[in-house]
Amino acid sequence: MPTITDPHHDPGVADIPLPGMDFEPLSHTSVRRSRPYDPTLPPTRAAIAAFWSRVVKAPAGGCWIWTGAVSDGYGRISWRSAGVSRTEYAHRFALVIAGELDHGAIGEHRCNEPLCVRVDPGHLIASTQSANLLYAVACGRTGIIRSLAERHDRQARSLAVRDAVSDGWDPVAYARASGNAAPLDTPPLF
Ligand SMILES: [Zn+2]
Repeated sequence: MPTITDPHHDPGVADIPLPGMDFEPLSHTSVRRSRPYDPTLPPTRAAIAAFWSRVVKAPAGGCWIWTGAVSDGYGRISWRSAGVSRTEYAHRFALVIAGELDHGAIGEHRCNEPLCVRVDPGHLIASTQSANLLYAVACGRTGIIRSLAERHDRQARSLAVRDAVSDGWDPVAYARASGNAAPLDTPPLF
């Protein structure tokens, strides 16, 4: 019988302890005590300052573009407080510090700009999952099934948008990167 070898799996190696590795299993109690991550950790003043330092604002009624980390096409922000960390979508962070994100609420973009963090009825509002779905359907987006290709497109688009404005607001570069046909200083009406 031929031997099938998997170069990524070598049980002989996997069983050798790494130097300094602690094999004591983590109990739930010890995980809770150390609290390395807390999804409810409130934004710190430093996190809020860091957040605004990464926002580039279009003039007038335009979008406020997040220029920090981008994941899955949306902005991401991480912060720490007393050894505890939290990561949040940038637009949700904006709603949190505006005091508009109740438990269970989600952020809804009304300006078709996933990187927008402007809390405003024409840009970003707190919504519910069901209301967000109805709005997506009304806009012609299913909102239900997001293919991998769609997510890749959103990520590539968001990275291009971020790069276009990271050195300051540039309407020409933004229009080219975003593909948003709407006038730059006027949020689209639906
Ligand atoms: Zn916007």
